[in-house]
Amino acid sequence: MNENNNLGPRNENVVIIGAGPAGIGLSIIFRKMRLKHIVLEKESIGASFKKWPKEMRMISPSFTGNFFLMVDLNAISPDSSPAYTLQTEHPNGQEYAEYLETLADHYKLPIELNKALISIKSGVNGYILKTEDEEIFAKYVIWAAGEFQFPLKDPFPGAHHCIHTATIPTWKDLSGDEFLIIGAAESGIDTAVQLSKLNKKVHVIDSNNSLENFQSDSSYSLSPYTRDRYNEYKENIHVTPDTRVVEVVNKEDNYIIISEDGKEFTSNTKPILAVGFKSSLSKIQKFFEYEDGIIRLSDQDESTLKENFFLIGPQVRHDDAIFCFIYKFRQRFAIVAEEIAKRLMHKKELIKQVIDEYKQYNFYLEDLSCCSNSCAC
Ligand SMILES: Cc1cc2nc3c(=O)[nH]c(=O)nc-3n(C[C@H](O)[C@H](O)[C@H](O)COP(=O)(O)OP(=O)(O)OC[C@H]3O[C@@H](n4cnc5c(N)ncnc54)[C@H](O)[C@@H]3O)c2cc1C
Repeated sequence: MNENNNLGPRNENVVIIGAGPAGIGLSIIFRKMRLKHIVLEKESIGASFKKWPKEMRMISPSFTGNFFLMVDLNAISPDSSPAYTLQTEHPNGQEYAEYLETLADHYKLPIELNKALISIKSGVNGYILKTEDEEIFAKYVIWAAGEFQFPLKDPFPGAHHCIHTATIPTWKDLSGDEFLIIGAAESGIDTAVQLSKLNKKVHVIDSNNSLENFQSDSSYSLSPYTRDRYNEYKENIHVTPDTRVVEVVNKEDNYIIISEDGKEFTSNTKPILAVGFKSSLSKIQKFFEYEDGIIRLSDQDESTLKENFFLIGPQVRHDDAIFCFIYKFRQRFAIVAEEIAKRLMHKKELIKQVIDEYKQYNFYLEDLSCCSNSCAC
């Protein structure tokens, strides 16, 4: 039974799944276009950020450059700035969630909280979305369920002996004086720095050579913020590069970490997994096509398999362009919004007005040829 006491699912034209930066960023555009939609959120606004380890901060800096048309890197709309709202350069998770809540409140976004999507299936001309208490029929679905809440916990045999970085509320809770971290990308080095600050000895096993890898795209290389902190606290940190872990074995009070080339490392505390995320896409595998493990999307970030099913957020990818930072993936919100609004034959003038605003502020990246350029110096 739906709200109107009629049999059958509730009808909604446009449904966004997830109220993180991606879902909220898109919802703001729809609001500006006065396009009716809803956002389903399984917990609260910015729930992933509220789950970040207490000490973790955004690596991308916030600075209010909006009035010179260079919007704060962590902003999700051209008219907002976390640096201004929060008065800090590197917000922690709780602070960033507050910024998202401020936007949701300001724009009176139609977010339905504590409403988890349990299953989704294709119907005639749309999708049947099942939540705990009702079914919703949606013509358009935009997937914005993120990745942080879906950590990769089983990358090799014995990984269940380890703790994933995404499940640690605060580094202060970890007892022991020496730790072994598997993975040396942003979260691995961040963990090493946090533990070193607490005077713990840290050994990081890196499948690549992250500290020596310098590239101009932040998706491929450690951020300056992380390098600065590493340099400050490296005294307690030892890194073994070019070593891929293939198994962890628990022997009495010790954990043996075995690498591909047969080396063994021992830790008397649970090894820490910093190997990334499975992503929420693992829940809807058959809705997208993959080629060599890489998602395929249309030029408007629509699924190549399912009509009117779109993706926004850090999992968006087009060839070498990886949109895993807010300043990158926010540039695709307006492309998705414009496409859906046009298909719905929504008010042309309003669409144009909003899209022009987003273009003016560099929130509309259509030509991706720029994304493979590197810095001259
Ligand atoms: C450790 C880490 C650090 C990062 N640091 C930065 C940084 O400094 N700068 C930067 O730009 N990017 C950073 N990122 C990138 C990061 O991916 C994004 O900034 C951001 O979290 C992605 O936003 P999102 O809205 O796609 O996902 P999320 O913020 O995860 O939001 C997804 C929302 O969907 C909800 N949801 C999930 N499943 C369902 C369901 N079934 N039904 C309904 N709702 C659901 C969740 O509760 C959540 O609120 C970092 C990522 C990680 C993992």
